[in-house]
Amino acid sequence: MLTLIKHAECYAPKKLGNKDVLIAGTKVIAIDDNISLDCSINHEVIDGNDFILTPGFVDSLVHISGGGGEAGFASRTPEMQLTDATQFGITTVVGALGTDNISRTHTDLIAKAKGLKQEGLNVFCHTGSYHLPATTLGHSISHDIMYIDEFIGLGEVAIADHRGRQISLKQLATAAAEARTAGLLSGKRGTVSVHVGSGLTKLELLHQVADTTDIPLNQFYPTHMNRNADLLTSGIEFCQAGGTIDFTTSTTEYDLANGELAAAEALAYCLEKGVSSDLLTMSSDGHASLPIYNVDNELVGFDVGDESSLLASFKQAVTQFNVSIEHALQAITSNPARILGLRKGQLLVDHDADLVLMHKKTLAVHSVWCNGKKMIEDGDILVNGFFN
Ligand code: ZN
Repeated sequence: MLTLIKHAECYAPKKLGNKDVLIAGTKVIAIDDNISLDCSINHEVIDGNDFILTPGFVDSLVHISGGGGEAGFASRTPEMQLTDATQFGITTVVGALGTDNISRTHTDLIAKAKGLKQEGLNVFCHTGSYHLPATTLGHSISHDIMYIDEFIGLGEVAIADHRGRQISLKQLATAAAEARTAGLLSGKRGTVSVHVGSGLTKLELLHQVADTTDIPLNQFYPTHMNRNADLLTSGIEFCQAGGTIDFTTSTTEYDLANGELAAAEALAYCLEKGVSSDLLTMSSDGHASLPIYNVDNELVGFDVGDESSLLASFKQAVTQFNVSIEHALQAITSNPARILGLRKGQLLVDHDADLVLMHKKTLAVHSVWCNGKKMIEDGDILVNGFFN
């Protein structure tokens, strides 16, 4: 089956202008000013006028098998479903455990990843959890990254958070070194995803590892950096020192009223401050618990992260905070893919046909393809998950 999208305004995420894009099987095989096909070949032609065509979104942190539990067993969040991602333009997710590495396991995480892959989504995972020494599926972090296709790194390891196990510099350096070496040996990046809490030490531990060992700062990928203005300032310093940072798009009214910055606002602020657009990303933290604590660390409320917030934040960045479509797209496509070592998040010939067609005026999702398979059409779900 061939699909030809005509005259859409294309973003690689760099703006390519109006182009024709040809999909064959699972790949994009041509991008050109004008592509015409022999009519004897079975093909679909889509009029791309009034639309923009972008790479499918890469959501670098989703608790695909559920997370949470900070308010007791009843507060364990449910697992995600295929259409939680595809309806909102997400074609690749990276799953991770979180606070709970006891009732949540890697056997369950990888089973969920394989299930979502069977349904058509691109899925990768991190081994470990908030805590070190890491719990793993196989013998070690190395075994998981080297021998399990889905595992690409470690995390989200918690620092500066009362929910983490207050890990030491040595523990973090050793685990990061293991992830890095296993990555080198298996052609992966071995990135360490870092959950940063609201503790006063902020990113200190990451700087200390980089300053006192041979692990480079860019082995770490700290997230939730829009948690408050102070942390965002540390994030800018982290970028200036050679790192990359991630903003969480799921949030609550309570958090926003208590110092959290919307991810779109944080993105715009960093760009204004001269941070390179290559160093900034957004992720949904989908299906995470969003526990609401008061100043005494007492739980006063509870919400659940939502993958739809990634698209909403992209739109908000462009329409409300004047971020260019290119820069906002980079943050949810090519940047997270590069940081995690994935050949995803770019509209390029010979790359996987993970694509989103959006209405030019509203940035609403019209169609979504995962590996050349159309999952969403005219905003409607074409491919449902097993239990949808
Ligand atoms: Zn987290």
